[in-house]
Amino acid sequence: MSVKALMAAILRDQMAVPGVNTLSPADYDEIVELLIEQIRELEVSLAAQEPTITSYNWSAPLPPYSSTAQPYLDAIAEGVFSSQTIRDWLVAGTSAEVQYRGADILIDEQRKRRWQKGQMKQPFWANYWCGKDARCTCRIEGSKGLESDAIFFLRSRSAKVLAMHVEFKHEYEAFKFGQPEAYPLRAECFSRTYSTRPTVNPHHDWVTVLFCGEDTLSDERIGNFQRVITHDEAAAVIPRYPVRRIA
Ligand SMILES: [Zn+2]
Repeated sequence: MSVKALMAAILRDQMAVPGVNTLSPADYDEIVELLIEQIRELEVSLAAQEPTITSYNWSAPLPPYSSTAQPYLDAIAEGVFSSQTIRDWLVAGTSAEVQYRGADILIDEQRKRRWQKGQMKQPFWANYWCGKDARCTCRIEGSKGLESDAIFFLRSRSAKVLAMHVEFKHEYEAFKFGQPEAYPLRAECFSRTYSTRPTVNPHHDWVTVLFCGEDTLSDERIGNFQRVITHDEAAAVIPRYPVRRIA
C-alpha cells in the first residue's frame, strides 16, 4: 500500500467514526493530496530557513505564517452568534442587506442538523465539504477547492434563511487554484441541493464573505466574495478577534 493509499484509508476510517460517509473514494484521494501538498510546502519553507533540517518535528508549534485560522474563525462565530450588530455589519453592502438586516441566527437548529449523527471534533459551523463527486456544479475543473471554512444561517423577519459562506485567509496566504471561484458556485449549489445534503440546513439565499489581509485586496478574485473584510476591520468590530503580532 502506498503512503497515499494508507493515508486515504486512515482518513476514511476516522471519518466513519463520527458517521461521515458521504465522501467518495476520489474525495479522500483529493484530501490526502491536499495534505501532502501542505506538508511539502512546510518542508520547503523549513528547508529554506534551516538547511540542516531534514525532517519536521511534528510536535513543534507551527511557524506563524501557517498558524491555524481557528482562533479567528472562533471569534467570528462568537460574534455572529451573539451580536445583532455584527450580523448586520456582515451583510452590509451585499445583496442580502435589505432582507437580512435585523435577522435572527440559527444556532441550535444548525448544531442539531450538523451533529445529528454525533458530535464532530470541529465546531458545528465549520468546514462544510461539498461531499459530491467531481461532476458537482460546485467544482472548478482541476481545482481542489471543496469546502467553505464556515457557514452561518440567518433567518429574516419574513422567515427566509440566508447561508453565509465564510472564507478565511491569513495575510500573505494565497488562494489555491479555483478556490475563490468555487465559493459562489458552492453557495449557489448548496441553496438548490440542501434537500439532498443531510447536514445542511434548508435555506433560500446565500452570500459569500472573505476575511483577509490588506495584501489580498489587489487580487481581482476577491470579486467572488460579496463582502470582503480585512483583519484590521474585523478586529475593530469583532471582540476577541486575534490581533496580529508584530514580528
Ligand atoms: Zn459540490
